[in-house]
Amino acid sequence: MDYRVLLYYKYVQIEDPESFMVDHKAMCDEIGLMGRILVAHEGINGTVSGTVEQTNQYVEAMRNDKRFSDMIFKIEESEGHAFRKMKVKVKPEIVHLSLEDDVNPNQTTGKHLSPKEFYEALQDEDVVILDARNTYEYDLGHFRNAIRPDIETFRELPDWIRKNFSQYKDKKVLTYCTGGIRCEKFSGFLVNEGFKDVSQLEGGIISYGYDPEVKGRLWDGKMYVFDDRISVPVNRTEEATVVGKCYYCDQPEERVVKCGNPECNKHIIMCDECEHEHYRSCSTECKEHEWNRYVKEHSLKS
Ligand SMILES: [Zn+2]
Ligand SMILES: [Zn+2]
Repeated sequence: MDYRVLLYYKYVQIEDPESFMVDHKAMCDEIGLMGRILVAHEGINGTVSGTVEQTNQYVEAMRNDKRFSDMIFKIEESEGHAFRKMKVKVKPEIVHLSLEDDVNPNQTTGKHLSPKEFYEALQDEDVVILDARNTYEYDLGHFRNAIRPDIETFRELPDWIRKNFSQYKDKKVLTYCTGGIRCEKFSGFLVNEGFKDVSQLEGGIISYGYDPEVKGRLWDGKMYVFDDRISVPVNRTEEATVVGKCYYCDQPEERVVKCGNPECNKHIIMCDECEHEHYRSCSTECKEHEWNRYVKEHSLKS
């Protein structure tokens, strides 16, 4: 059977996120979707998977709600469900940036560039390309010449910018993220910080990869995704390359694992051999941790 993954978000006022969540969960369960949806006063952010029929049913239901009638769904083909459960959660924000002065992207945000415009801007001499994602996402694949913020989560990004990026305030800055949602708020933050010329990739890397003209050009490696697929291709031309490297042996690699220590959970690119040697861990401490998942799965200790 053919499955699809839907990715979508919208910054729009939701009056009562709690009751919205309850109704929304019931609807998703009734349709039979799997996935993860975050709801906040500021909007909705979801990734769900299901059969073509199920996902169509969901899109139609959302179209009938005024708040979401113009929401853009990014659609990816899939061989099965990309999630094992259906979760709908209420959060303070639909992406966790936790700024002291929160940004409303409907009021302040960077310029939106279509994939084609972004592709052209990438080739400007005088442009600074900034990846708005985490290090492990960058390490698996990124736009050529993009700057890599040294952060493990999105909420570390504002601080990193203030310490490492303020010299670019007068430059043309291009930002991008997976589906566009992080950049909506993050580019608004940059504008508020005094960056004069900030642009963001509309629809994120996903839309860029599917654009029939651009075909993912100037993207190196793969794209990390937050579901069971872990990584997906972006560059659909001959120039596609591997940029990921094994954390231990430095060989080209595109497998991402979570550190075997359940208290660490760090995302690491690791080859099969090194996974076995290091019990899928980022350090000796994690390797020897009493709850190491690799050890459990392989019954290495009693
Ligand atoms: Zn290795
Ligand atoms: Zn670890």
